Amino acid sequence: MSRPCIQDKNIRKCTCTYHHCARKGLCCECISYHRASGELPGCLFPPEVERTYDRSIEAFVRAYSGKL
Ligand code: SF4
Repeated sequence: MSRPCIQDKNIRKCTCTYHHCARKGLCCECISYHRASGELPGCLFPPEVERTYDRSIEAFVRAYSGKL
């Protein structure tokens, strides 16, 4: 069973600052794209790391190490 895409709703909540991305609001495509590169989507990073556009798992671990 398929569900309708809620891209417009997702865009309103998206915290990614790369505004020219064609995947913005298409969370399934966003995750697939970054996963294929060994990365994570921008919304999982704290704002100060997200805006560096470093989506690596290393950057994610660095960002949260010591915070958990
Ligand atoms: S996290 Fe990556 S794929 Fe997702 S909207 Fe931002 S730039 Fe696009």
